[in-house]
Amino acid sequence: MFNSLSDRLQDTFDKLRGKGRLTEDDINVAMREIRLALLEADVNFKVVKRFVAACKERCMTSEVLDSLTPSQNVVKIVLDELTELLGSTESKLVLAQNRIPNVIMLVGLQGSGKTTAAAKLAHLLKRQGKSPLLAACDVYRPAAADQLATLGGELGVPVYRGDGAHPVDIARGAVQEAVDTLRDVVIVDTAGRLQIDEAMMQEAVDIKAAVRPDQVLMVVDAMTGQDIVNVVSEFAERTDFDGVIMSKLDGDARGGGALSVRQVTGKPIKFVSMGEKPDSLEVFHPDRMAKRILGMGDLYGIIDAAQQAADEEQVARAEKMLREGLTMDDMLHQLQSIRKMGGVQKIISMLPGGERMLGQMGGDAVDDSSLTRIEAMIRSMTPEERACPKIINGMRRSRIAKGSGRTVQEVNALLKQWGEMNRMMGRIRAMASSGDMSPKAM
Ligand code: GDP
Repeated sequence: MFNSLSDRLQDTFDKLRGKGRLTEDDINVAMREIRLALLEADVNFKVVKRFVAACKERCMTSEVLDSLTPSQNVVKIVLDELTELLGSTESKLVLAQNRIPNVIMLVGLQGSGKTTAAAKLAHLLKRQGKSPLLAACDVYRPAAADQLATLGGELGVPVYRGDGAHPVDIARGAVQEAVDTLRDVVIVDTAGRLQIDEAMMQEAVDIKAAVRPDQVLMVVDAMTGQDIVNVVSEFAERTDFDGVIMSKLDGDARGGGALSVRQVTGKPIKFVSMGEKPDSLEVFHPDRMAKRILGMGDLYGIIDAAQQAADEEQVARAEKMLREGLTMDDMLHQLQSIRKMGGVQKIISMLPGGERMLGQMGGDAVDDSSLTRIEAMIRSMTPEERACPKIINGMRRSRIAKGSGRTVQEVNALLKQWGEMNRMMGRIRAMASSGDMSPKAM
């Protein structure tokens, strides 16, 4: 995500850090570099101009230049301005309390990721305890309704298709269906075109008038760059949407669209979509995104992912592990938690400097294949072996290796790792019982 922009901004800061004291010339050079980096990321030129002017004005003060840590102050100023550019604070989905069902309508161009986003939003709301219904109002793209039905089926969310009806009637019918079947949110997927088109706009306006949505969200493909600004402005004028779902941020989007949209249209980004999986839709936090762009990581993101992945069983398991030691089943469970959090790459990308590290290692150098290998070996163990890995002798090792398609050396390495982890758990247990949990003692 935004790799090139992120690299260039961090290079600029690295140069400033190397200087100690900063002169006005140093700031001018840095601001020129930031300007170029943003323009190359395809950020709208007016947005870049305003952004750089704001940063420069705040940096060129004696407070910053004469401070003991001028480069840190510059980074902080750029971070503040970037956060502001992205919308300052989280913009929540606003659903009326006293209305059932609530209605959310999605608009956008064809291929922007609308249908996928509708399903992901349903999944997210379901996780929050809502019972959504999806309405398939894109009757022009032949596969759209089928695609929504398949996605809905996978997520256990019903899809109202109203086959053959006019999209406005399908939307109305879906709301009635929700009333009849006690569903509390209807998510309306509307038709898109490859380009702005009067008939598409009018249809969106008509659906909006018919079902009076609580929220209209525009799905915007992050790969589009600043060209999207015209499209978004047009949709804003006609449909007066409430916020943006920025899709495909997992790709190699340069960042232009995401960084321009708020300033140019005044509409907030509410969600970002980072992949094709149903749980890849996330609430957008401007401050966290700004930190990620500047290579400072997103530790709150990791905590969120861990909380989402954690369940009561996990907590009970952790307590048992501490009490009785680690079994191979525990290890398997931990690997599955890493997957639930989005995989190794996602976790590393949220660490400070993580995106850069992944970039330097080459896109696919870190993936979940090592998890898959370990899982295969553990799954080739018998229940007794998993519960008590000490019994795994030479013969059992070669059977496990054969069963999982791995080598005996890999099985040995896994058992060694297990042994080390268990020793560590033993030390934690001993310290917990002696009451000394200071980091020094660990
Ligand atoms: P629609 O025409 O706007 O309904 O677009 P779709 O929902 O059919 O999405 C178009 C394509 O983009 C599909 O192949 C999706 O799988 C893909 N897509 C949608 N959202 C994302 C995302 O966040 N990341 C990635 N990598 N692909 C996405």
